[in-house]
Amino acid sequence: MRKIALAMGVLLALSPPLAAGPKETPKNNADTRLALLQEKTIFHSGLTHAHTIALTFDDGPNAHTDEVLDALKEMHVKATFFIVGKEAHRHPEILARVAREGHLLANHSATHAFLGSRYDANPGMLLDQLRDVHDQIAPLMAKGDKFYFRAPYGEWKYAHAAILNADPELRRYVGPIYWDVGGDISMSRDGYVMSAADWDCWHLHWSARTCAKGYSREIRRKDGGVVLMHCIHLRSAELVRAVVPALIEEGYTFVRLDQMPEYRQYETPGDKGVADARPQRPQLQHLAALRPEDIK
Ligand SMILES: [Zn+2]
Repeated sequence: MRKIALAMGVLLALSPPLAAGPKETPKNNADTRLALLQEKTIFHSGLTHAHTIALTFDDGPNAHTDEVLDALKEMHVKATFFIVGKEAHRHPEILARVAREGHLLANHSATHAFLGSRYDANPGMLLDQLRDVHDQIAPLMAKGDKFYFRAPYGEWKYAHAAILNADPELRRYVGPIYWDVGGDISMSRDGYVMSAADWDCWHLHWSARTCAKGYSREIRRKDGGVVLMHCIHLRSAELVRAVVPALIEEGYTFVRLDQMPEYRQYETPGDKGVADARPQRPQLQHLAALRPEDIK
């Protein structure tokens, strides 16, 4: 507990310089300081260069999520899970376990929908996409827990915000939340994997160990950040076990999204208390030509 308190102290102490990113000027009126679901995706996390990591696991829950939860439990790390509604309907017991073990439940839409402009022509459909997940996660969350949303595939339109903010429950969401680490695979000229995205790793038949090198190197290079992973693959837990322990040894602090000072500016007035990573890039075909055993 002392370690956690200390970590939070450090995080809060770092808060003013971290909040110096691109955002509106602070105003005296508390109502104008705060906002609702944003018209633009929230890219700035304030965690890079702060030796702090927010692990986020998207697209669950499914049977493999249990293995990820086992790994996190052993390492005493709390994370944020962006839930897909149709998966939660199939695995309500795993959804409940995520909350019970101290992780933060968050909203990733009912069907992992590509939220393009057709949803603005059908506001009811957009509301349903978030409401389905909200109705499942809200009863499981602790009193005072905050709500976060990540758009599937990172796809978002300006007009979505006004539609969702007209709803008294959904207007309490902070989002859409993006990520700092885990967006794509990149290689150095001499064959080192410099960053990785788990879904692409599995498509390329990379081992969890190779994929972990990309994650670990990107995290160290950025000295922290919001990390995008998925909790639904056979190798998901193995990846967590290959990435996290060394970072704990190196003194990184692990936080849930609701422990991040940077996001407080987006909270709803009066409410006191994110394949996202799987775009089929042409680059993947090039990478597929590499033999996994040749990757350093
Ligand atoms: Zn997703």
